[in-house]
Amino acid sequence: MLIFHTIPELQIYLQSAGKKGLKTGFVPTMGALHKGHLSLIQQSKAYTDISVCSIFVNPTQFNDPNDFSKYPITLSADIEKLLGIGTDVLFLPSVAEIYPAGTANLPHYELGFLETVLEGQYRPGHFQGVYQVMKRLLQIVEADDLFMGQKDYQQCMVIQQLLQQENISTKLHIAPTLREEDGLAMSSRNMRLNPQQRITAVYIYRALLQMKQQLQPGNLNNIKEAATALLTNNGFTVDYTELAHATTLEPLTQWNGTDPVVALIAAYLGEVRLIDNMVLTH
Ligand code: AMP
Repeated sequence: MLIFHTIPELQIYLQSAGKKGLKTGFVPTMGALHKGHLSLIQQSKAYTDISVCSIFVNPTQFNDPNDFSKYPITLSADIEKLLGIGTDVLFLPSVAEIYPAGTANLPHYELGFLETVLEGQYRPGHFQGVYQVMKRLLQIVEADDLFMGQKDYQQCMVIQQLLQQENISTKLHIAPTLREEDGLAMSSRNMRLNPQQRITAVYIYRALLQMKQQLQPGNLNNIKEAATALLTNNGFTVDYTELAHATTLEPLTQWNGTDPVVALIAAYLGEVRLIDNMVLTH
């Protein structure tokens, strides 16, 4: 595996691969890698010739400074895991490499409705940071294909919008969420849960399953309230339990029985904020 810290080194390598007609796949991450991340790299390896993983804990997407300072960093274990699955390239840029003019005066991007709901509403500025870093990374890597996880459902929609708005021809592939045996979605933040919280965390998955079981045409408020109660009764502080239109993310209060529906949850266990989602209709 080649490890590059600077943009010119990475680009010289990728441009020469491109000239040979090789296709590049890109998997951006913030490290603390788990099997969910590795599944994206495996998908990239199956689909393209050169798979580039980036590890960059992007300071501009953390609206909560405490979350940023406590974000897990496990670089040597990450490198072992990437080697183990045959990753071709690891891009490990510094903050100065990504933001040479600093982070104070970055442009503001128009995200419209997506920035006003759910993660956009509860994490002000988060998607601006995601957009800033992903625009930069996509322009650096110039990948043919981009692999991201459905675990971050709304983020995938923001990136799809970015690709269109910025006229970037990279194709986004959305991979299913990998879960622990009990159903908890794999996440770097799970490392921050204590043993008791780790057991309790499965209630997020149970709340999603409960919403799926209870979904029927008509008013949806009782279903959302029951999911919130399940979480609250088990010690969570809930940001939202939402049922939304799966392609627009418009929150739904009524279901007509035909619109595609996604259930989305964000909730805290202690200081750790967890998110998960499930598409309820197919
Ligand atoms: P992160 O390091 O959290 O920024 O995540 C990097 C990529 O991995 C994003 O595209 C995430 O959606 C994806 N990802 C995170 N958790 C999972 C999971 N449990 N299963 C599949 N993909 C995931």
